[in-house]
Amino acid sequence: MRVKLQLVICNDEGHEETVTDVITLNKNNQRLEQLGLTLAEAKQLLSTLQRHLLQHQVATFLDTRSTCAACGALLKIKAHASRSFRTLFGTFTLDSPRLEHCDCTRHQTSSFRPLSALLPESVAPELLYMEAKWSSLVSYGMSLDALKDFPHSTALRGGAFHLLIESHPR
Ligand SMILES: [Zn+2]
Repeated sequence: MRVKLQLVICNDEGHEETVTDVITLNKNNQRLEQLGLTLAEAKQLLSTLQRHLLQHQVATFLDTRSTCAACGALLKIKAHASRSFRTLFGTFTLDSPRLEHCDCTRHQTSSFRPLSALLPESVAPELLYMEAKWSSLVSYGMSLDALKDFPHSTALRGGAFHLLIESHPR
């Protein structure tokens, strides 16, 4: 049995705008261990879903910032660039173009990166919260191996946990 999961993004009126294939799973159903999602499938699903969702959200945000707020003129792209964003479900590279300000208004700089307004930090607040929370668990003896089993473990900074384990010897 093939199971195909799609991400359907709708506009505010509920009309479908984009349909993206997220993941296709080949699932058998003859044995107990074949039922439902495996941990590996769940991790892959969350990571892929997160990537598509982030790309769509960032593209939509950049679209709203691509014109001059004063006169509506399309802003020129000065340089293409990217930046990384760490989330609970992985670290992703996002487009972050540098745009030239419009001549119609005075600005302190000649160009700006619109994405900096959305991402003042490169880490999702929820990931920071979880890292702080789990750091305290590590100090009580939870091993790094156990942490690897969680769906967002790829996002966790291994180095940070090593340091914590060293500073809290069991
Ligand atoms: Zn303008």
